[in-house]
Amino acid sequence: MPTERKAVFLFFGGTGDLAYRKLYPSLFNLYRKGNLRSHFAVIGTSRAKLDDDKFRAAIKKSLADSGNRTDSKEANDFISHFYYQDHDVTDTAHYAVLKELMDKLDKKYKAEGHRIFYLSMAPQFFGTIAQDLKTQGLLADGKDAFNRLVIEKPFGRDYDSAKLLNDALSKSFDENQIFRIDHYLGKEMIQNIEALRFGNTLVESLWNNRYIDNIQVTLSEKLGVEERASYYDNSGALRDMVQNHIMQIVSLLAMEQPVAFTDTDIRAEKVKALRSLRVYNVADAATNFVRGQYGSINDQADYRHEDNVPHDSTTETFVAGKLLFDNYRWSGTPFYIRTGKMLADKFTRVDVVFKRPLVDIFAFPQSQNTPLTANVLTIFVEPHAGFSLQLNAKTNDTGFSTEPIKLDYLVDAQKSKDTPEPYERLLHDVLKGDGTNFSSWPEVSYAWKFVDQIRRVWDLQEPQFPNYTPHSMGPAAAEELIQRDHREWVYRLNN
Ligand code: NAD
Repeated sequence: MPTERKAVFLFFGGTGDLAYRKLYPSLFNLYRKGNLRSHFAVIGTSRAKLDDDKFRAAIKKSLADSGNRTDSKEANDFISHFYYQDHDVTDTAHYAVLKELMDKLDKKYKAEGHRIFYLSMAPQFFGTIAQDLKTQGLLADGKDAFNRLVIEKPFGRDYDSAKLLNDALSKSFDENQIFRIDHYLGKEMIQNIEALRFGNTLVESLWNNRYIDNIQVTLSEKLGVEERASYYDNSGALRDMVQNHIMQIVSLLAMEQPVAFTDTDIRAEKVKALRSLRVYNVADAATNFVRGQYGSINDQADYRHEDNVPHDSTTETFVAGKLLFDNYRWSGTPFYIRTGKMLADKFTRVDVVFKRPLVDIFAFPQSQNTPLTANVLTIFVEPHAGFSLQLNAKTNDTGFSTEPIKLDYLVDAQKSKDTPEPYERLLHDVLKGDGTNFSSWPEVSYAWKFVDQIRRVWDLQEPQFPNYTPHSMGPAAAEELIQRDHREWVYRLNN
């Protein structure tokens, strides 16, 4: 039986899209599994005028919309733990009402003073909320009670704004009480990177620049900006995807083995890796990063003609780049990354390309054999989860030729169905106080420092946009970036 966790949750932005679509259904899963039982309460707060009944009806709908039966005793008992209080986060005096409700529910449900504050709303309010939570006395002060603050992305829009935000949060919460969400870290196959590396001699003993030629990380989206245009146009792919998700994945791939499998040790190694990531000078940033914006095709409008996008927008919807680590393990082995909207397909994968054998003994003078291919280990993150290892083997005939074959492991459909959603894992981690799958401030700050330099260089020059066709894999410059190094993307269209 799982350990029961006790807490009163306070969700700011409690009537928002994220809360209804992801957070409440995830809490319900934790309840069904026994991680939450009777000693918890959830307060939703936002500016909307609702009462408990209307809020509970909305929770019921959110559970139903995510495929749950809501006529069961279990669902109704769960929903009875939900309360609503309207509140404007900028009104300091009104926090007293939230405090009173939290204290009351804490007693009613015997939550032992544990408090989780989840900020699921626009980031400009994060600093104010954290400050008011402290000054207005909402933080638990019992010796054994915990206070945890969960922050949605984005965490700043550059290093300076992120630092300001972090300084504001630090006045009320210690670093180990702050849980910065990067939902990619809640994905099964991202967490599997550590198992794959540190659980297999075969993998980890080759995991360095002597045997690995290059590593490729691709986060490809099929859709355009949809209804997120007004946010996205102020952000762009570099800030929206590279600074957080891609940098997190890359740091897991690049880090050294942690002393122990704890959040402190894992974070220490990720930070060390990010510190050795080369921050480019102007010339290198211009050479090693390319950007793109999608054009139009058939009925598909170009980015500049999407709703809520200015017609002269220079926001990038695609990024590709080369990352270099200046350390003993990775010196000389580039990490290529790319992400974009309106690409050929929706998927996330990591391709680890090994060096070819130093000597190809099958390529003797009269041989008809094609040269040996590189071994490639692919980690499929989504939509399908699994691994694939490409090896060379003998063809099944009387002569002697080789051909590439693949060893595939795909998580089966039932297992995939049973895999917890990232938000369920992450909420469970918050309840446990485990920061492994959240971004620490040092990680966030090194990632911004790297990304800011690319942005600075891009801002010096007007881009030639649009420059890629919808449903392709981005602009020609992304191909040139890797071909210049006599390499190619492992995932290409039609392979
Ligand atoms: P949303 O716009 O749907 O909801 C915002 C919530 O904040 C609403 O409940 C609104 O009433 C409340 N609010 C706004 N101003 C307020 C004020 N002054 N006082 C009190 N309440 C106020 O937003 P969302 O899509 O749920 O996103 C929330 C956060 O999560 C954002 O930081 C977003 O970047 C992040 N996020 C969302 C998603 C997603 O899938 N929706 C994914 C990743 C990250």
